[in-house]
Amino acid sequence: MSTIRTIAPATPRAPASWGLGDGAAIPWEYAPAPESRDVVRIREHYGLFIDGRERDASDGGTFTTIDPATEQTLATVAKATTADIDRAVAAARRAQRRTWGAMSGRERAKYLYRIARIMQERSRELAVLETLDTGKPIRESRDVDVPLASAHFWYYAGWADKLEYAFPGRVARPLGVAAQVIPWNFPLLMLSWKIAPALAAGNTVVLKPASSTPLSALLFAEICRQADLPPGVVNIVPGPGDIGMHLVSHPDIAKVAFTGSTEIGKKIQRAVAGTDKALTLELGGKAANIVFEDAALDQAVEGIVNGIYFNQGEVCCAGSRLLVQESVADDLVDRLKRRLATLRVGDPMDKNTDVGAINNRAQLDKITELVASGVAEGAELFQPACDLPDRGFFFRPTLFTGVAQSHRIAKEEIFGPVLSVLTFRTPDEAIEKANNTAYGLSAGIWTEKASKVFAMVRALKAGVIWANTFNRFDPTSPFGGYKESGFGREGGMHGLHAYVRLEDR
Ligand code: NDP
Repeated sequence: MSTIRTIAPATPRAPASWGLGDGAAIPWEYAPAPESRDVVRIREHYGLFIDGRERDASDGGTFTTIDPATEQTLATVAKATTADIDRAVAAARRAQRRTWGAMSGRERAKYLYRIARIMQERSRELAVLETLDTGKPIRESRDVDVPLASAHFWYYAGWADKLEYAFPGRVARPLGVAAQVIPWNFPLLMLSWKIAPALAAGNTVVLKPASSTPLSALLFAEICRQADLPPGVVNIVPGPGDIGMHLVSHPDIAKVAFTGSTEIGKKIQRAVAGTDKALTLELGGKAANIVFEDAALDQAVEGIVNGIYFNQGEVCCAGSRLLVQESVADDLVDRLKRRLATLRVGDPMDKNTDVGAINNRAQLDKITELVASGVAEGAELFQPACDLPDRGFFFRPTLFTGVAQSHRIAKEEIFGPVLSVLTFRTPDEAIEKANNTAYGLSAGIWTEKASKVFAMVRALKAGVIWANTFNRFDPTSPFGGYKESGFGREGGMHGLHAYVRLEDR
């Protein structure tokens, strides 16, 4: 039998010297700290960005994008057709052959530096727009997404004129036009991961953002114009999934880069099979975050919270399976529950918010269904008592104990603020359980022994492994997975490699 338990946050008590009465509840709450919406001017309508110009879809079609925290419409956006995709690919091909591919790396770098600088100058605008369109807390878009996005342009700008040093003894040639399809969890950051290395290496791009989060990509189109980027180098074509398929299948595409679900990744791989297109896939995950008994537990608690509740858990590398050594499991879970009770869930635009809105209704339904399956399969559910806003797509931070490896919540990617706790006794058991997944994107290890870290790193089948931290990203560091998490690497020189053809001198 499973039980559902909730716990209210501990009420702070006033000391007698405050004169409120001995042990009285302290009468304060966080004051609202909303970021201003006025820093960004959201237009009523956005067009496609093709060949340096904004244009409507060839059939005049549009769709709306909403704020998931309020369910209110933010803007209507042109919905690309196959004819628009063809036009965008033709523009990108022209630009690659005539201007961008022929330009020296030094000149290309100037444009990338300019874009990076404008992104910094417009960072507040980008952060607010990203939060409104995704539901992620403004603290995260302001402090993580936008700075990291511009850091990718700074970093790859630095490589644009140094390709011969990046690949010594070889000549690095651009591949041509890259088709890039990105998801809704980190729209601007995923755009930067993909566009910055592509452009640095002399490719041009056609990028399709996710339908629920097109706005930051369209603001980026404005930034390209502001940076005087030659027409056709970057093309942004919002539209539904089948438009993404038309794009990646286009015969004039030389390189496909996709981030999203494993299901769509497999479809794209099938579509590209038999062609000479280069392909990188960054797909789902079910990462193990492994805590040994010798770990600093309070530090681990912060890392676990960051690992699974950051961005509402809508993170491909989220630490969604907590593996705790049995001897400290009860203690750690108690600390974790107390910490969960302090998380502030609600308005993403409030600077105090820790957990914002789930990006879309379908995702909220998926999380709800998977959590119900956890309860039905016998795991014990814990959620802190907290008021959720009346409107919008919100979900309480959730923790399951008593989870078996066979439970769906231990196997399937939930992509929400839901942590499944399992225990282990020996390092071998931890390795076996951590690797017992179809995915292989990331993992975390918490221990005070470096020797244990190195031994675990060799045994874990995951593309990225953090030790005594989690969810740390840097443009210089490669990121990518094994097995059903995809293949290829983004970031660092590995990320550059994915956009060049190497020839002998
Ligand atoms: P998808 O994989 O469907 O979406 C990712 C991108 O692919 C979007 O731009 C989407 O467009 C596009 N797309 C959809 N269908 C096709 C297609 N047939 N050919 C080419 N492109 C396509 O993810 P969902 O948004 O549906 O999310 C479903 C699940 O995927 C989540 O619950 C989560 O588990 C996982 N996911 C993983 C991500 C990751 O970073 N690894 C990111 C997002 C989701 P459109 O938005 O128009 O449908």
